[in-house]
Amino acid sequence: MSLPWLREPWLQVVSDIQSQRFGHAHCVPARADLGADSFCQALVDYLFCLKPQAKACGACKSCLLQQAGTHPDYYEVSSEDDKAIGVGKIRELTQRLQETANQHGAKIAWIKDAERMTVEAANALLKTLEEPTENTYILLTPVKTNALLPTLRSRMRLHKFNEPSWPETEAWLMQKLGRSLSGEEQLQCRHLAGSPLTALSLLEGKHVDETDHVAQLAQAMCRSGTWPQPSKQDWSSWLNASEAWLQELIRLRQRVAAERLRFPHLSDLAHDWLQRQQITVSELNAWLALCYNLRKLTSEQSGLNAPLLLQQQWLQWKHKP
Ligand SMILES: [Zn+2]
Repeated sequence: MSLPWLREPWLQVVSDIQSQRFGHAHCVPARADLGADSFCQALVDYLFCLKPQAKACGACKSCLLQQAGTHPDYYEVSSEDDKAIGVGKIRELTQRLQETANQHGAKIAWIKDAERMTVEAANALLKTLEEPTENTYILLTPVKTNALLPTLRSRMRLHKFNEPSWPETEAWLMQKLGRSLSGEEQLQCRHLAGSPLTALSLLEGKHVDETDHVAQLAQAMCRSGTWPQPSKQDWSSWLNASEAWLQELIRLRQRVAAERLRFPHLSDLAHDWLQRQQITVSELNAWLALCYNLRKLTSEQSGLNAPLLLQQQWLQWKHKP
């Protein structure tokens, strides 16, 4: 397990599997910002592997089938376009889990977006959890564990990941980037200590058209230019740019030295506007906090209309109360 904060829970499940204390039903919160997906993938691989040690061997017949994505005893159910997972899908799954394993090893079902199961679907799954067939594992990864039926939750082992502290996250980010973080990057990422993968994508994605994006936001804000139309694909680079621009405005308001500015070519434009609109540092900080919050929300919940939420934030910049 290459993600340091997942090492301990990983060692625990391996030890439980080896000592045959690993139950058949598991619930792992879908924390993408903590790498829950890689944890679950490693777990599925491990349970299938014919010669597992600290992790799946990667070379046995079962591992090769897994790597090719063609293991006949692996079943995956997820929500399509954020729609509910209906009872039909779950019945089909439980039916197949009753059959003998094709490879004579484990049968594994991974139900993603599990909180989207209808009550009927959850009840159908409940029956299988109560009477499991041998060597069958069911893995649920809900975005919100609390949204699952309590009867379902009580029949599963609930896994929990501890969020790393800022020093741990910073050390990991430095290792991934192969350099230390600038003072500004530290400020930008500190509130993401418990979401290290989000912090990394923020730092890695920073270079993408940021200067152009920031210039367009500055024009829209200060000169009534055209506001961008973020899409599902590029909204996060617009969020990066929004944060970068607000941070720059805060620096300007605080009259930091010119060499500490990141977009000095936009300073005159911003100065005029800040004066005209009488924008305070605390207002700018409040807008920035909303950006951070949007980043957090979208890493925790699927199905949010992030481009729209971002545009709503821009509306506040435009129509200062
Ligand atoms: Zn193997």
